[in-house]
Amino acid sequence: MRTPLMAGNWKMHHGPAAAAGLTAEIGAAADSHPGVDVALFVPFVSLTAAVGAAAGRLRVGAQNAHERMSGAFTGEISCDMLAEICPLVLLGHSERRHLYGESSALIGKKVAAALESGLEVVLCVGETLDERESGATLDVVSAQLAAGLASVDDGQISRITIAYEPVWAIGTGRNASLHQAGEACRAVRERIRDGYGDAADLLRVLYGGSVNTANWAEIAAGPDVDGALVGGASLEAESFIRLIAITATG
Ligand code: PGA
Repeated sequence: MRTPLMAGNWKMHHGPAAAAGLTAEIGAAADSHPGVDVALFVPFVSLTAAVGAAAGRLRVGAQNAHERMSGAFTGEISCDMLAEICPLVLLGHSERRHLYGESSALIGKKVAAALESGLEVVLCVGETLDERESGATLDVVSAQLAAGLASVDDGQISRITIAYEPVWAIGTGRNASLHQAGEACRAVRERIRDGYGDAADLLRVLYGGSVNTANWAEIAAGPDVDGALVGGASLEAESFIRLIAITATG
């Protein structure tokens, strides 16, 4: 019913030359697994090179965007600009929230801008370790979803994918368990059902946080986990292609 999505988040890695080579290699491998959608979120300066190298089904996206379409915002990139180059944007990543102080309300404005520009959005949500240990995980995720999707109407929800990424699992080597990932991804889908009804059955919910070739098969088995957002293990073709293959064999 839902085609899984394996998305790589390269963060601040791979300039245009490296991005082109890696995208071509991953794209060729993705074509041999038609049951899995594949996307790469690359640095702004590498977008054009990656899009040019992305033959077949692989799609390329940006890792951030500004909430306004143009203006005196030195150093920023708008969704309209991105939409000229690529179809996707990643918004609300925990590094944007925690290192750059992006609030859930700001992320909601960015989501609105992205949809207005015709982009598809992967919206990230997830709790900190303190929030998990105090039992607040599902409340935090629900609040991030409510603010992030505040302006999204029934006709737009099909252009949204949610990535559940517990902050304590990102880049730490400490992944969520099957139970933790499954519970949170299920809760995400239920919140979407509350707001958008049966569209929740079509919406993809990804898990992210220290996904690697050793742990992915187990996490992917969760019924509400529709793929992964992968940082470190997407930086080299071999491990990311292996993750795509694991997803394909389900
Ligand atoms: P990681 O990063 O796979 O390196 O933990 C995931 C992410 O930040 O999206």
